[in-house]
Amino acid sequence: MEKKKIAILGSSGSIGTQALEVIQEHPDQFEVEVLTVNSNADLLIEQSKKFKPNTVVIADESKYTYVKEALANEDIHVWAGEEALSQVMEMDAIDVVLTAVVGFAGLKPTLSAINAGKHIALANKETLVVAGDLVTKAARDKGVNIYPVDSEHSAIFQCLAGEFQNKIEKIYLTASGGPFRGMSVEQLSSVTKAQALKHPNWDMGAKITIDSASMMNKGLEVIEARWLFGLQPDQIDVVVHPQSIVHSIVQFEDGSMKAQMGLPDMKLPIQYAMAYPQRLKSSFKRFNFLNYPSLTFESADTKTFRNLALAYSALRKGGNSPCILNAANEVVVDAFLKDKVRFLEMPDIIEQCMSAVQFVAQPTLQDYLNCDRETRALAKEIILKTV
Ligand code: MG
Repeated sequence: MEKKKIAILGSSGSIGTQALEVIQEHPDQFEVEVLTVNSNADLLIEQSKKFKPNTVVIADESKYTYVKEALANEDIHVWAGEEALSQVMEMDAIDVVLTAVVGFAGLKPTLSAINAGKHIALANKETLVVAGDLVTKAARDKGVNIYPVDSEHSAIFQCLAGEFQNKIEKIYLTASGGPFRGMSVEQLSSVTKAQALKHPNWDMGAKITIDSASMMNKGLEVIEARWLFGLQPDQIDVVVHPQSIVHSIVQFEDGSMKAQMGLPDMKLPIQYAMAYPQRLKSSFKRFNFLNYPSLTFESADTKTFRNLALAYSALRKGGNSPCILNAANEVVVDAFLKDKVRFLEMPDIIEQCMSAVQFVAQPTLQDYLNCDRETRALAKEIILKTV
């Protein structure tokens, strides 16, 4: 059997490094063709020596010489810069591109990969949040599949295996509720960055961990699900499930529900997306019912965690609204991580951006790029005024 040749867009992050662990466990299945990082040159060098990709890219051009010299004795092409990120995605040899960068930065290279006919294992949810219409249309036009890596969407996708002719009535995305589940507005007003970074169940990167604590992650996932599965906003529900064992649920038109379960480990959805349609044998820890005598479910508190409500409103409004939501969120999360805004100021600033930035009903790619830039500038301006 031919090995699948994988390009990892963003190999130094949490998803990228876990994907390389999966590849290492299955050398008979996968081969690393391309690795890219933003600026972590040392990790890129280490990964390159180990996995021997054909080509690597470092987005930060100032580190090009450093990487090039470190890999001088390897048979590896080294490139640098934002443009190169998009260009390497078009390489003939690539079978699947795993998009594991965080945020809006994933949009252009993902579109390049799709336009070059590469299947996508999508971990970069912001790409679909910002420009889901353009991305899914490009994928349809090119006959490209987008395999979800996000655990909830992977769960839905797994539940849909063998069901593609059957209509979905509704899906339920599960949410752990994060570290602040059950807290009041008053309690949230004084939470710290360190508390927000302690997720109870999942081990993830900093941005998504803050998004989980603020429930924005679930909001982004609702929008992501709309595009992946072609659903209307009313068909997507969120249910808080603190144990993170049921990863999401599909309800069909006969009322039957299918759920996908397992211990929370991102390597499982990463592996499923890369190996689809196969299930590969793995050593992941197995779930034991007796360790979980009760699995519980509750409704999401959108009055206290306003981000989820803001995301639904952006989804219903459509056009560039999710792009505004995402850009503002990226700025406030960054500011929160730098102690420049408080936890509850994040939704306030996002809401202000959503009402101030010009609405565009049917944005082009250029409109999205402009909207992202404009929203970031506005969010930063508001933050400067608040301090
Ligand atoms: Mg998720």
